[in-house]
Amino acid sequence: MPRVQFSEENKVQKTNYNFPRLKLDKSEKARIAIIEDPVVEYRHSLDSPTVSNGNVDTKEVEARNGSTYTDYKREFISSLLCTGDAEVLEVGGVDPEGCKMCAYALENPDHIKPPQRRYAMHVIKYKTKAGSTTVATPFSVELVVWAFPDRTFNKIIELNQDWAEQGGLKAHDVFLDCTNGSFQNYDFSVAPDAAWSKNDDTKSLVKETFDNNQIPDLSIACGSRKEGTWIQNDLDKISEAWGLVNRIEGGEDSDESAGSIDESFDSIMEKSGPAPDFAGDPAPKDAEPKSKPAEKPASKTEDFAGIFDV
Ligand SMILES: [Zn+2]
Repeated sequence: MPRVQFSEENKVQKTNYNFPRLKLDKSEKARIAIIEDPVVEYRHSLDSPTVSNGNVDTKEVEARNGSTYTDYKREFISSLLCTGDAEVLEVGGVDPEGCKMCAYALENPDHIKPPQRRYAMHVIKYKTKAGSTTVATPFSVELVVWAFPDRTFNKIIELNQDWAEQGGLKAHDVFLDCTNGSFQNYDFSVAPDAAWSKNDDTKSLVKETFDNNQIPDLSIACGSRKEGTWIQNDLDKISEAWGLVNRIEGGEDSDESAGSIDESFDSIMEKSGPAPDFAGDPAPKDAEPKSKPAEKPASKTEDFAGIFDV
């Protein structure tokens, strides 16, 4: 091993995942200003089946059509940023060359899914009067990080287009009304104005807040950044857990029996949705397994360029 100098550039950076996030309880309202384009990352949600007292744990899950079916109970392990190449992921949805988790997902589609897109950006969150979206007095804001899936990204694009003739979202605050705390589902509406642009004082306070409170790496709001052996450790846990499940279920050929209690894996995953992730902000129930080519998100974000022009 080489020697390392006691110099500033060699200082070990510990990633700090503890930063303020946009997270609402059911029925809670928020007033926010969207002021920048999001980063987009691909993320793997890793979990494993659980066993209690020698029996495989199962649960009844209600499908969208109201019927119920039996699924494996799964234990959350981690939400990790895919290490694959962005261009390869956009075309094929997986990059087995560049990411151990993608390779594992291809070999074991009943254990983990391909990565899903996740977006993150800073937003201004206003202090509002209790239970309302009316800006509180005195004027006060905080900068929080909002991480969200494809459907929210598309929703924001729609809103921006709907209000294009009125200056787009840069000229309007957005009201959020949380309809599901576990899944962070929101109803969206748009304010007739942007409270931050009211006068020079509010503008400068918001700009100062934005300039001084950003987190250095928005990607970690999409998923944890792990590499090499740490990723392998998580995959080994998954592999061992499924091995145990398959032995208990009596399938000597471990690949045959996995993920087939009542239905095929694809339909189970589509209906049940993933376990809550480290951020308490899981993908939606209607998230599609990402096996088809992804659309290019970069082109969609152009509408937001220069949105924050205080
Ligand atoms: Zn991957």
